[in-house]
Amino acid sequence: TYVIAQPCVDLKDQACVDECPVDCIYEGPRKMYIQPDECVDCGACEPVCPVEAIFYEDAVPAEWSAYATADREVFVSL
Ligand code: SF4
Repeated sequence: TYVIAQPCVDLKDQACVDECPVDCIYEGPRKMYIQPDECVDCGACEPVCPVEAIFYEDAVPAEWSAYATADREVFVSL
């Protein structure tokens, strides 16, 4: 799954939402979230993010490592 990291916080540009073919990117209070069970790993969202907040889960930069699982945890708690 792809995930959305720190640059999205308090920005929520949402350019990614228009690109996602399965509509699995949801708005949270402070950032956007990718539903991991719905994401088909197409990668379409990654290049359109104006702040480069989107990464494949295994490729999240070390300083934002907490974001590799943050999106998944949000949906587990629902
Ligand atoms: Fe949607 Fe594809 Fe991005 Fe997954 S990788 S969130 S399916 S656009």
